[in-house]
Amino acid sequence: MTKDYKKNQGMDRTLRDITIGNKVPWSAFVLLLLIYIIPSFFTRYVATNPGVINVTLVGGVVRSVPFSSFAGVLTSIANLALMFLVILFKKSGYITTVVILVAYQLPSMVIQFVKAGNTSVVAGLFTNLFTLVAVTVIYFMNKKNMRFQQRITSQAITDRLTDLPNRFAVSELIEKLIRDQERFAFLSIDINNFKTINDTMGHDFGDKVLIEIANRWRDLAESDKTETKDFVARLGGDEYALIIRGYNDVGQIKRSVHKYKDELERVITIEECDYFMTANFGFAEYPTDAMTSNAIISGANAAMHAAGKKGENFIMRYDPDAIKDVRSMEVERIIRRALENNTITFNLQPQYDISHRLRGFEALARLKDEDGTMISPGEFIPVAEKTGLVDQIDSRVFELAVEFVSRVMNETLSNITMCVNVSVRHLMKNNFIEEVRNMLEKYGVPAHFIEIEITESIMIDSTDKARNTISKLKAMGIKIAIDDFGTGYSSLSYLNNLPSDILKIDKSFIDVMNNTESNKQYVSMIVSIGHILNLKVISEGVESDDQVDTLKEIGCDYIQGFVWGRPLPAEDAMLLVLKDN
Ligand code: C2E
Ligand code: MG
Ligand code: MG
Repeated sequence: MTKDYKKNQGMDRTLRDITIGNKVPWSAFVLLLLIYIIPSFFTRYVATNPGVINVTLVGGVVRSVPFSSFAGVLTSIANLALMFLVILFKKSGYITTVVILVAYQLPSMVIQFVKAGNTSVVAGLFTNLFTLVAVTVIYFMNKKNMRFQQRITSQAITDRLTDLPNRFAVSELIEKLIRDQERFAFLSIDINNFKTINDTMGHDFGDKVLIEIANRWRDLAESDKTETKDFVARLGGDEYALIIRGYNDVGQIKRSVHKYKDELERVITIEECDYFMTANFGFAEYPTDAMTSNAIISGANAAMHAAGKKGENFIMRYDPDAIKDVRSMEVERIIRRALENNTITFNLQPQYDISHRLRGFEALARLKDEDGTMISPGEFIPVAEKTGLVDQIDSRVFELAVEFVSRVMNETLSNITMCVNVSVRHLMKNNFIEEVRNMLEKYGVPAHFIEIEITESIMIDSTDKARNTISKLKAMGIKIAIDDFGTGYSSLSYLNNLPSDILKIDKSFIDVMNNTESNKQYVSMIVSIGHILNLKVISEGVESDDQVDTLKEIGCDYIQGFVWGRPLPAEDAMLLVLKDN
């Protein structure tokens, strides 16, 4: 069954489906024909019938209008119907019109004129001749415009290098299939090691490989070799996409994909060089795996990357859990490598007092993967925590931060506060205090420059030991900040027992603070509690001037947020210190 389905629906047909707008229904064709036939039938009747219609005008005046006066109106309506037929139905409309005029109307009028000597048909004869000229002009003008439009559209949906449909065509088709609620699988395809070919053999050679792959896959998509209905496209670079329809089960998708894999893996010979290409395929199915075009594409992309990382499996279906696992493993590997090569860096985000004077900085870890793409701490810190690598990250950032303070001490008279994040498990380590002390000694930095940020969870996890360590840190002169305050489960009594110096109100409260009066009161209450407990209060993630105004009004002490400063590389942070000095 799937084969028949496929035979009459090639890639070209699919492309036409997605680029040509809504078609005019054939019922409109019939309607226009009727609009033509009925008035033309009555035209002759009214033209030759001597009857009149009495029309009452305003003021009660009655006028007799002869039937013959309606002949012109009816002819115009009939001819208008013919013109619409040509405009809306192009070739078929034009042929129908020409047949009606040339094979029927004109001969019958000529016969009436010549045989019956009916001179009243002369006007109609000319009208029909003019209509014929008019529809012919309309038809050819329309045809020219259509051709131009088709050329523009086909350029917009075609990849220049390979002539395959492009990214735009793919998203149009996906949108259409979703609109029609048709089941399909979207596959992202990444050619392995293509960059090496480009780098070693040059771009022209690389282009030839891409064209060869495109030709093989186009031929396959248009053949009967797969039992599914396939649409192959090039998204750019070495990325291709495949949309598979008309399958019965997932096994059938995989069988089709195997055929594309086999086609790709046949030796590619270009300029007497043999190449053996491979690729990773990731797919997501509509509607099972995702419901929107974005979700389907990003699901397939994630699956494709996961397939690449796993190595053993060239095809993967979108599965959030499996992908998360694969990604975690990859992030873990990147962290380990960065620790080995000492490539973990840091940014410094400025903190200000409420009158916009620099208070200090928060040191934030930064990690890049091998391609130089930043991985956010939101992603790598949880992985580092789970795998026990976070202590080493903390230590690395701590060292960079202390070193920065020593430079500030040497170059300026500024008395900045340097905040560092320390994970709970790191703080709980027996040698934590010693580590901190050694580091400060190594760089000759007094403890009062340093503030250690911990999260509320420490108060629940292991209170006594935590309190003990924190007390020791405080005794050394280090300040303690409670990070992300308000998001954990701390009770007032915990807070009272913990010897801290500053509360950091979490961004989530600041975000909604100005939405309602009660949100504002909530933040105001945290500030008051902080002050009652003799703590300073800093708001995190402050992004707008309105938020600054409110925080001033409710007496918050410090501000950290994009509104006054984003995390900066150390050199830029140093310039800020020098400026403020
Ligand atoms: P955090 O300690 O609460 O740090 C503040 C985060 O909020 C930073 O994100 C900062 O860039 C972001 N931020 C500050 N102001 C704004 C703002 O106005 N708008 C927005 N949208 N964001 C703002 P980042 O650098 O991505 O760090 C995220 C989290 O990762 C940190 O949250 C912290 O919990 C953790 N982290 C970062 N570096 C380290 C580290 O060296 N060690 C440990 N253990 N955790 C770290
Ligand atoms: Mg923090
Ligand atoms: Mg925070």
